[in-house]
Amino acid sequence: MKERKQFALFPRAGGMMTMAQPIAVTTSVRRAASIDEGLSEFSNQEMYRELLGRLGEDPSRDGLLATPGRVEKSMAFLTKGYREDSATILRGALFDEDYDEMVLVKDIEMFSLCEHHMLPFFGKVHVAYIPNGKVIGLSKIPRLVEVFSRRLQIQERLTRQIADAIQDAIEPQGVGVVIEARHLCMMMRGIEKQHSSTVTSAMVGCFRQKETRLEFLSLVRQPGAGSQ
Ligand code: ZN
Repeated sequence: MKERKQFALFPRAGGMMTMAQPIAVTTSVRRAASIDEGLSEFSNQEMYRELLGRLGEDPSRDGLLATPGRVEKSMAFLTKGYREDSATILRGALFDEDYDEMVLVKDIEMFSLCEHHMLPFFGKVHVAYIPNGKVIGLSKIPRLVEVFSRRLQIQERLTRQIADAIQDAIEPQGVGVVIEARHLCMMMRGIEKQHSSTVTSAMVGCFRQKETRLEFLSLVRQPGAGSQ
């Protein structure tokens, strides 16, 4: 014997059977519920679909049918830094080393989203430190940039977080981080300063001394082996 269906079947005038329909919830009931529970009952895709409608689009037209799914995936990627931890990434890539000259990794590509408009800002990150008995595996520095840039950010905090993560991991003599970036929220809306770029820096320890800071900045400006 098969299990009985969970929905009751109602005979219709024509003799056909039809499934019971869910009770329609009025907008006001929904609104009251959502104040208490947030919008957690709705999926990300449902919310992006709703947003498309509110922007004046028809979410059911061909070109937009798969858009909520694509946006969900893309946003998950662009914010994956929330689900990563810088200390975990650096652990296992720290090495004892007597080297005490400046280590510089420059022109690291960076893409992030500004937290005020959720629009991209992007550019180059330059990271330097002077070791104090420990160095970081070189490939981990771009990974560190990735962890903090794949979140909603402001450029100033991003700069500071990269410097702090290196400071905490190896307690070097000093760290310097410079970010040069262009912000789409400035370029494609509002003041439309298309060619302006924003430069931020964080200097820790010996990088606060003029000589070290100037050496770092002049190395950043020099065309290096990796530049075109
Ligand atoms: Zn912005």
